Amino acid sequence: DLHPVRRALISVSDKTGLIELGQALEARGVEILSTGGSAKALRDAGVAVKDVADVTGFPEMMDGRVKTLHPMVHGGLLALRDNDAHVASMEEHGISAIDLLVVNLYPFEETVAKGADYDTCIENIDIGGPAMIRAAAKNHAFVNVVVDVQDYDKLLGDMDQHNGATCPKFRKKLAQIAYARTGAYDAAVSTWMADALELEAPRRRAFAGELKQTLRYGENSHQKAAFYTDGSNRPGVATAQQLQGKELSYNNINDTDAAFELVSEFDPAVSPAVAIIKHANPCGVAQGATLVEAYQKAFDCDRTSAFGGIVALNQPLDAETASKIVEIFTEVVIAPGASDEAKEIFAAKKNLRLLLTDGLPDTRAALTAYKQVGGGILVQDKDVGYVGMDDLKVVTEKAPTDAQMQDLLFAWKVAKHVKSNAIVYVKDQATVGVGAGQMSRLDSANVAASKAERMAAELGLDESLAKGSAVASDAFFPFPDGLLEAAAAGGTCVIQPGGSMRDQEVIDAANEAGLAMVFTGMRHFRH
Ligand code: 5GP
Repeated sequence: DLHPVRRALISVSDKTGLIELGQALEARGVEILSTGGSAKALRDAGVAVKDVADVTGFPEMMDGRVKTLHPMVHGGLLALRDNDAHVASMEEHGISAIDLLVVNLYPFEETVAKGADYDTCIENIDIGGPAMIRAAAKNHAFVNVVVDVQDYDKLLGDMDQHNGATCPKFRKKLAQIAYARTGAYDAAVSTWMADALELEAPRRRAFAGELKQTLRYGENSHQKAAFYTDGSNRPGVATAQQLQGKELSYNNINDTDAAFELVSEFDPAVSPAVAIIKHANPCGVAQGATLVEAYQKAFDCDRTSAFGGIVALNQPLDAETASKIVEIFTEVVIAPGASDEAKEIFAAKKNLRLLLTDGLPDTRAALTAYKQVGGGILVQDKDVGYVGMDDLKVVTEKAPTDAQMQDLLFAWKVAKHVKSNAIVYVKDQATVGVGAGQMSRLDSANVAASKAERMAAELGLDESLAKGSAVASDAFFPFPDGLLEAAAAGGTCVIQPGGSMRDQEVIDAANEAGLAMVFTGMRHFRH
C-alpha cells in the first residue's frame, strides 16, 4: 500500500545533507519535528521545524540521554494506522502519526576508534535513536526509516515516483537496513565492552560490520559475496583508498590482506620491504637498501608465480619501484602512500589496482579472528605472537652467525604468514624458496627446495638459490627427515619451535649435518 509522508522526525548526529533533506521535505509539504542540534541547524537554514520538546511536553534532559523517549513520539511511530483501537488511542492521547524517521546515531564506533576514555565512550552510546529506529522499522507497513545519509535521495526519489507517498517494498528495504544498523551498533558496543573487560572468551559475542561493497561474486563465480568494514578504521585493505583499476574481487581482497599484513611485519624505519602474494601465500618477500631493490629480490624468488600477483610495500610507492612493477602483469598493489610520479606511471596501466592506506597496521595489536565451521564459528585471538633475538635458544653445537641470525628471524616472520605446513628458505633478507600448505613438512621442504632450484636455473645460476640459506619451519620437525631435506637443499641454519618428542633425534641430525639450529618455543600454524 502506498502511504503518504506527511510528518517527519529528524534527529541526526551526522548532519551531512541535513539541510538539503529538510528543504526537500518542506518543499513536498512534509511537517518536520526535530531534536536540539538538528532542529537548530534546520532552523538556521530557514527550514520550518517543530521541536520534539514541544510535542512531548518535556525538555530534553540529562545531557540528552532523554530526548525522544516519550509516548508522543513512540506512539506516533508504532501505531497501526488501520487498527481502530490504535487510532482511538492516538485520538485519546493527542498523538499524531510520524510517517518518516530520519536518524543517524551518536558516533560510538568513531569515538572508540579515536581512543576515547571509558566514560566518553559510554556517553556516546545512543539510546533514544536506536529505540526510535527499531520502532519505525517494526512499523514499516506505514513508516519510513532512514538511517543512512546515502539513502536521502532514494527516499525523495520514491516519494516523487508516488506523488509524495512511498511504496511498501521500499519501506521494507529501509527497515532491513535499519535493523542491520542497530544490530551492528550494539555489536560494536558489546565488542568494545569485551575488550574493555579484557574478556578472553566472551560468553556472548556479537558481530559488527558495515557494508563496504557488494562483490561481483565470491571465491568462485557461483558464490554471492560482500565486503564489510569492522568500524575499527585500522589501516588495511578494508579502509584503503583505491586510486585506479577494476573493482576488487573477493580473492583480490583476501590476497591483498595477506600481502599487507605480511609486509607490515617489517619496520619501515629499518628497511623497505616488499611481499608478493599469490593465493594468500607469499611467492617472494624481501628487504632491500631501496624499495625497488626489495621488489627485485622478492620477484627473483619465484618469477613464475609472481605473474598476476599482489604486491604489498611497507613504504610509499616511488617512481622507480612503480616502473619495475608495471613490467609484468600485477593484479593489485597496496602501499602506505605513493609519490605523484609513481601514480602517473601506474595511470598508464588502467587495470592495475592501486590501494593506498594511511600507514601500516600494527601487527601486534590484539584482535580477534573468526572462522566459520559447520553449525558454528571458531573465535580466537589473532596470531600476534612475536619472537625476537632474546627469545631464541641455540640447541646445536654450532651457533648461527649474526648474519644467519638476521636471516633466521626474517624467515620466521615470513613463515608465520605461510599456510601450514610452511618451510621457508631465506638468503640475505630475501626468500629464496617457499613451501606452503603441504600435508607433510617433508613435502613442504621439498617444494621449497625444488622452487629454489628451478628459479636458479631460470636466472642462469649453477647452484640452487637455497645454497647457504636460513630455513624456517612454522612448527617442529616431528622427524629428522624434513630437516635433512632442507640441509640437502643447501640450508645451513634452522629456526623452528622445538617441542617434538624426537627433538633430540632432530638436534643430533642437525649436528651431524653441520647445521646451526635455534628453537623459538612458539609455533605459527596457519590454516
Ligand atoms: P541533536 O544533534 O539533534 O540534538 O541530536 C541528534 C542525536 O540524538 C541523534 O544521533 C539521535 O539518535 C539522538 N537521540 C534522539 N533521541 C534521543 C534520546 O532520547 N536519547 C539519546 N541518548 N539520544 C537520542
